[in-house]
Amino acid sequence: MKKMNQNQINHTSSYYAATANQKLYFPALQESIKTQVCIVGAGFTGINTAINLAKKGYEVVVIESARVGWGASGRNGGQLISGFTFSDKFEKEMGTEAAQSVWDLGAKATDLVTTRIEEFNIQCDLKEGFIEVALNRIQKNELIARKKEWDRRGYGHSLTFVEKEDVTKYVNSPNYIAGLIDSGSGHLHPLNLVLGEAKAATDLGVRIYEQTKAEKIEYGRTAKIHTTNYQIEADCIVLACNAYIDKLNKKLRRMIMPANSCIVATEPLDEERARKILPQDMAVCDLNTILDYYRFSSDHRMLFGGRWNYSGNEPKNIDQNLRKRMLKVFPDLDDVKIDYAWGGNVAVTINRIPQLGRLTENVFYSQGYSGHGVAPTHMAAEIIASGITKDWDMIETLGKIKHIQLPGGKWFSGPAMSLGMLYYQFQDYFASKR
Ligand SMILES: Cc1cc2nc3c(=O)[nH]c(=O)nc-3n(C[C@H](O)[C@H](O)[C@H](O)COP(=O)(O)OP(=O)(O)OC[C@H]3O[C@@H](n4cnc5c(N)ncnc54)[C@H](O)[C@@H]3O)c2cc1C
Repeated sequence: MKKMNQNQINHTSSYYAATANQKLYFPALQESIKTQVCIVGAGFTGINTAINLAKKGYEVVVIESARVGWGASGRNGGQLISGFTFSDKFEKEMGTEAAQSVWDLGAKATDLVTTRIEEFNIQCDLKEGFIEVALNRIQKNELIARKKEWDRRGYGHSLTFVEKEDVTKYVNSPNYIAGLIDSGSGHLHPLNLVLGEAKAATDLGVRIYEQTKAEKIEYGRTAKIHTTNYQIEADCIVLACNAYIDKLNKKLRRMIMPANSCIVATEPLDEERARKILPQDMAVCDLNTILDYYRFSSDHRMLFGGRWNYSGNEPKNIDQNLRKRMLKVFPDLDDVKIDYAWGGNVAVTINRIPQLGRLTENVFYSQGYSGHGVAPTHMAAEIIASGITKDWDMIETLGKIKHIQLPGGKWFSGPAMSLGMLYYQFQDYFASKR
């Protein structure tokens, strides 16, 4: 483990990078090698797949074009949320039993994260409690329906519905008319989590190479990954690049739309002031399509996220834009300075369901968590690893879900997505008037 030189890509400048609790540097690949499994991408998906395989005795190499946690995993809102997006359509397509087993995966994903944190004693500021808040009657009805659905599926015990008069006990803003608390969800420092997991992976024998970009893949019984200077021959490949897949695989790129989401971190507040705003220190999301999501860090900074952009490029003036949104929710924060502002790409899918499967017999992928991946990536890593070791055939079940590919990649999907989002923004606007 060594220091970086100037040409290397570092973590984006963020509150998380500034408070990373370990300086982990891995070498770039310096020779051509062979391995059983090569994983491309060192975010939650890639690193956790590596841990699961290494535990079963597999020889695993992870390559990362920048640094461990450089992508969404090291810069997200840190909200650890249970559940996948789910649609009744899947029940019809897959049958009741298979649909319930897919639904269970989403509900249990947060447990995998807490188990991992305990198992490797990872210091990442884990806190319990998440509340989803409704801005209008339509959203309130959505929360009521969600509670019913979770009760029906057998997970309702972790959810509590809160009426308007009680919401301020959790979120001290006049904007909300109802809330749904999930005690099984929570929040954490995502970069410290992925760094802790990477350390655990190397302790299990996984080799990680940073600053090593996969440029091209030769598919075959033994697949070959070409990096800028060297090659890796592997019996099996896992593509864990999510919104940053770009040209490495056109099919996967056409199945997702990279969208930019942004976050600001304020200066630290004193603890009493922070507790007045979020008395139970929960993570919060509203139900708008272009949603606000926020929470306090362990040093009482408001981490406020929102403002999506579907060009995949980072917008200008993140701090000013998000400050305005934050003040609409908490006008009292007017005197508080913004210390950090950053953005990152999420991979959005048309049906909002993560995409897991195989491109060929020995090339696996997982992507498209649609802005909701801290917990689901950990479940995806279980599913892919056990698809490779042939211990669990969930990857085949999920492979049956039909995913739409957008024509024209970047040039078509960006503008089309922006138009689509404009439509949903109008819907949110009109719902707020009812
Ligand atoms: C601003 C923001 C806020 C978010 N907030 C939340 C939240 O609060 N809660 C939540 O659940 N989810 C949230 N998400 C989503 C969540 O962070 C992601 O779904 C999740 O981290 C995806 O993990 P991943 O490992 O699949 O991908 P990533 O973490 O993006 O990792 C992919 C990695 O692949 C590498 N890579 C790509 N191509 C190559 C190549 N050719 N060669 C080598 N390496 C390559 C990239 O450098 C990158 O490091 C947020 C995302 C963003 C951007």
